[in-house]
Amino acid sequence: MRVSGEPSFRESVDLMFNRAAKLMDLSPGLEQKIRVCNSTYTVRFGVRLRGKIETFTGYRSVHSEHMEPVKGGIRYALSVNQDEVEALAALMTYKCALVETPFGGSKGGLCIDPRQWDEHELEQITRRFAYELIKRDLIHPAQNVPAPDMGTGEREMAWIADQYMRMNTTDINGRACVTGKPPHAGGIQGRVEATGRGVQYALREFFRHPEDMEKAGLSGGLDGKRVIVQGLGNVGYHAAKFLSEEDGCKVIAVIERDGALLDPKGLNVEDVRQWMNRHGGLLAGYPNAKHVADGASVLEEPCDILIPAAMEGVIHLGNAVRIKAPLIIEAANGPITFGADEILRRKGCVIIPDMYANAGGVTVSYFEWVKNLSHIRFGRMQRRAEEARSRLLVEELERLSSDQGLGWSLAEGFKEKFLQGSDELALVRSGLDDTMRTAYQAMREIWHGRQEVEDLRVAAYIVSIGRVAATYRSKGL
Ligand code: GLU
Repeated sequence: MRVSGEPSFRESVDLMFNRAAKLMDLSPGLEQKIRVCNSTYTVRFGVRLRGKIETFTGYRSVHSEHMEPVKGGIRYALSVNQDEVEALAALMTYKCALVETPFGGSKGGLCIDPRQWDEHELEQITRRFAYELIKRDLIHPAQNVPAPDMGTGEREMAWIADQYMRMNTTDINGRACVTGKPPHAGGIQGRVEATGRGVQYALREFFRHPEDMEKAGLSGGLDGKRVIVQGLGNVGYHAAKFLSEEDGCKVIAVIERDGALLDPKGLNVEDVRQWMNRHGGLLAGYPNAKHVADGASVLEEPCDILIPAAMEGVIHLGNAVRIKAPLIIEAANGPITFGADEILRRKGCVIIPDMYANAGGVTVSYFEWVKNLSHIRFGRMQRRAEEARSRLLVEELERLSSDQGLGWSLAEGFKEKFLQGSDELALVRSGLDDTMRTAYQAMREIWHGRQEVEDLRVAAYIVSIGRVAATYRSKGL
């Protein structure tokens, strides 16, 4: 995918880092300390499967331990390699700093095609990989807390948590060793949708600022905006679903590994996903839209918002000039190479960068980790108390209205809505929304406030690097 002559993913991240660091007043030593990846552990292990020993290669990379635990997902894909996990670990450091989750950055990966193995086999492989990492404290509630990423989900996280607890039977905080678990295994409501939900909240925040929209040549709100989504996995699916069902966006194309579906009137995202679930993740044959075999070419179709939500490096030197979207939101990590980023900027395209755009996942992971450490569900103590206070107010209004003969009547549905205390899902969404708004405002202050800052990516790096540097300094480094 990456055209020759382009830097590797890790180099691309470093080059983007350098663009920002140049505009900051950091000592060369500190700059270097922040940029480099602290360590990468490679593990090769064997699992007896289908009558023979299969050897797997996995990684856990720790980019920065300025705060602990370090945090970041575990990816299952054949393309996993050391360069990639190091790039992703670095992005985790900057992402966590930007959205103020108190973690350093880490990432893991296993070279495997999860589709080749059945559930029981995957469990054996996952438990063995987890065992290797746990015994070296590379999975640990206080030191290193993985989460889902490409190719993994709630199921794998539940196996990892269980493996940790088998090996640490007296650790009362054992469940906090990994996030993204299913709710019945110590997870939190709203974690599965979190990254896609974060993309929605990020776009809502962007569209609250007319000057920012203007930079992309856009106006109005999200309603009616034409959206192209690449990747209808967990992130792309939720982002596309929420934007179309709740904000009036028209999802005019989705791109998957076997091509793309197009419908200028807007696709029914839920229907497409149901089709994919029934047809091995493939789009071909879907009856209600046009299918195009060359999916990558659809990235170049005219639209208002392009959402790459699949892999790194999909917008590169080879196709960047042909991209027509005025606004790109990077739901995936690293979908735009360093060279492509430059071309797009010159064209006036506004890019909402990955470290911000997809930070919803780690934000809700943070809430899950806190929930696990506090051993209580969010809202359990407050919900009914909140409802009782609201009820008091409504009853007083009703009493006033009848006693004074004022004849007031509450708007339809108001009473039910107002009387409802916040459950865990509502609190998670509220915390996520607040996080996405606050982080956007920190970026845009720098974007608009400093003339030499051309784009949101550099602004994001400046905020993040500044925070990491402050932590290192306070440690005496
Ligand atoms: N894998 C996700 C990411 O790249 C989530 C990480 C986490 O929740 O720790 O941000």
